[in-house]
Amino acid sequence: MAALERTLVLLKPDAVARGLAGRILQRFEDAGLKVVGTKMVQIDADLAKKHYFDLEERFGKSVFDVTANFMQTGPVIALVLEGVEVVATVRRMVGATFPNQAPPGTIRGDFAHTSKAYTEAKGIVAANLIHASGNVEEAKYEVELWFSETELFDYQTVAERYLF
Ligand code: ADP
Repeated sequence: MAALERTLVLLKPDAVARGLAGRILQRFEDAGLKVVGTKMVQIDADLAKKHYFDLEERFGKSVFDVTANFMQTGPVIALVLEGVEVVATVRRMVGATFPNQAPPGTIRGDFAHTSKAYTEAKGIVAANLIHASGNVEEAKYEVELWFSETELFDYQTVAERYLF
């Protein structure tokens, strides 16, 4: 049986600085997802490296560097969301990495528009507002990396009665 899952979401420094946190969180609440943890964090190079541990291997040192630096340019808001097969659902709500490939209706497609060609030509990060765990295994690693047990909460939402 498919189980309830938890996933890590980060509202990146651009989302926080642009004042989009509330509107993005609203989308998750509207979908009936349950917020079981949240905090604002100014991350350091060590946490950036642990979070993006395979980024250099996947895309090279310059992509890792611009991304890790960008993540330290201001506070992020970290969320743990719980729901039925929530990892895949949140990825769908977030949309593709490069916002110009993320369809309207997705968070990246609605609130950003930059492209791979533009960011690569300029050697800058793809500022795409939000991170969401890519799969269930990654979600487990990331939730444990970002949150201690005492920062995760067990309570009942009203929506849960009908949705879970
Ligand atoms: P996603 O966040 O969609 O899961 P990845 O895990 O592939 O994407 O990459 C992590 C983050 O690194 C992206 O969200 C983006 O901010 C940045 N990034 C990835 N590839 C590039 C690139 N080619 N140029 C600039 N930034 C990139």
